[in-house]
Amino acid sequence: MKAAVIESVGKAVVAEVPDPTPGPREVVVEVAACGLCGTDLHILQGEFAPKLPIVPGHEFAGEVVGVGTGVTELSVGDRVAVDPSLYCHECRYCRTGHNNLCERWAAIGVTTAGGAAQFAVAPVANCVRLPEHVRTQDAALIEPLSCAVRGYDVLQSRLGAHVLIYGSGTMGLMMLELAKRTGAASVDMVDLNPTRLDTARRLGVSASAATPDELDRPQGWDLVIDATGNAAAIQDGLGRVAKAGTFLQFGVADYATRVEIDPYRIYNQEITITGSMAVLHSYERAAELFANGVLDPDVFISDRLPLDQYPQALDQFASGVGRKIVVVP
Ligand SMILES: [Zn+2]
Ligand SMILES: [Zn+2]
Repeated sequence: MKAAVIESVGKAVVAEVPDPTPGPREVVVEVAACGLCGTDLHILQGEFAPKLPIVPGHEFAGEVVGVGTGVTELSVGDRVAVDPSLYCHECRYCRTGHNNLCERWAAIGVTTAGGAAQFAVAPVANCVRLPEHVRTQDAALIEPLSCAVRGYDVLQSRLGAHVLIYGSGTMGLMMLELAKRTGAASVDMVDLNPTRLDTARRLGVSASAATPDELDRPQGWDLVIDATGNAAAIQDGLGRVAKAGTFLQFGVADYATRVEIDPYRIYNQEITITGSMAVLHSYERAAELFANGVLDPDVFISDRLPLDQYPQALDQFASGVGRKIVVVP
């Protein structure tokens, strides 16, 4: 089969690789679409994936074309979206409900062959069947949405919160859609790139600007969400949290990124600084929210490129042009 392969640091190609075969409790999915995200860029930079080469792609959906000997829940022809998380279920974190922090953390498309390919293998437990009205290609958005749902789980948002989101890429916009539906009093968004804010305005952001200085909220925001991973944005955001408010590190920073915190203010104003990593018991709910129209796939997916153009798709994503880019095998 044809697959995208990150061969070594900085080098992505499309190549012929062996067809996958399912284990007893696995299925083979013919991929309809696979999304690209910052994680794929980190893998390209030599981070996250323990070893290269790897077939990337952890945001995908498709049709079941083969089932393992022990699979009774799914059959050939079923359309599914795939939760990429592979937990050991044995370590202390798994056993205390923190599976996304598993000591043997693994994921399809990060540590094992992923969905940027014609076919991918997935455990039956990771597959969510798609309802009739959901287009298979669009369901590649369920994985990033499940990360946003996890972010909201961490925030424990209360009704009437004032929310500020840094970064109007796909993840920032997904946080915006969730914030609108979780009873926020206002949702503001900042991005240095003004054209990227057009989509935020289309989706009904309360106010948007290049910097929070242009937004009139000197008292700060109850929830500040970084969806950039950028040091300058994170540093600025930490200072924008209102008293008793929460800062969520949602964007993926480089390993070496450092910012300063203000311990006196954290103490004196009861500021919470927290993070959310990937997916935790949130994929099923994301699939249900998606099926109920929590976001418009035609707004969120800006580019559908052929799998052959995977390296170019990575370049386009890295340049910040467009929103969710998916490759179509
Ligand atoms: Zn992703
Ligand atoms: Zn574990």
